[in-house]
Amino acid sequence: MATTEKPEATPAMTRRPKRGVPEGLWRRCPGCQGMIYRQEAEKRLGVCPECDYHWYVSAQQRICQLLDDGTFEEWEAHLEPTDPLQFADKKPYAERLKDEQARTGLRDAAVTGTGMIRARRVAFGVTDSAFIMGSMGSVVGEKLARLVERATQQQLPLIIVSGSGGGARMHEGILSLMQMAKVSAALARYDQAGGLYISVLTNPTMGGVAASFALLGDLVIAEPKALIGFAGPRTIKATIGTELPKGFQTSEFLLEHGFIDRIVRRQDLKSEIARVIDYCGK
Ligand SMILES: [Zn+2]
Repeated sequence: MATTEKPEATPAMTRRPKRGVPEGLWRRCPGCQGMIYRQEAEKRLGVCPECDYHWYVSAQQRICQLLDDGTFEEWEAHLEPTDPLQFADKKPYAERLKDEQARTGLRDAAVTGTGMIRARRVAFGVTDSAFIMGSMGSVVGEKLARLVERATQQQLPLIIVSGSGGGARMHEGILSLMQMAKVSAALARYDQAGGLYISVLTNPTMGGVAASFALLGDLVIAEPKALIGFAGPRTIKATIGTELPKGFQTSEFLLEHGFIDRIVRRQDLKSEIARVIDYCGK
């Protein structure tokens, strides 16, 4: 496949211009546009103290926020993505993978394992939207399928936190699409075995992730104001040529229309998950 990328120009062009504030001390909130003292927001688990907007948090931060200190044990950490189609868009997929790995410190967009939530053992998975928009390629699908299988064997409650704006990873073509069926089938077997699956949707949860494991939870919880849907609002608007309802595809809209079960603020998430596990007797 012919490639036309300009390697020298790309990294500098995608970096945002600085706004004259020391990097890291203050941060502009995507919700209220206010300059927020970063430490203040971090104390609140990455929630804006002014407008309650839930900022992006990494997979690693999620693990720290939700699991008891030092209890997380990673599974399948060795799985590495490959480039079966020799795919290239703005740059070759193989190169993109290396760049994303260097930038995020992740091997791919999902981290899975086991740990304790307020002293209850769980199987835990999280997708990180920083890695190719958290999209589900072969590695994400395989890690999640194995997580579900282990949860089935070990009779553990299953918690998956989704942060995937990319859905299925088009760089892997059909191999990424089949992950939707694979993980869903594993979840069906888990369900038949009597497992409890709590799915936590965060901003954003879209495409093939929303259309498979993320919305198959026995309980589907979302963080406030998360964007959740299949095609994005801009795509839908451009396709059907109509104004979309106010708040379309937000957690609040979806709760009102019965698509999700609950909205839980990030500060309450850990306690609420522990409470659900107890309530369901798992
Ligand atoms: Zn804010």
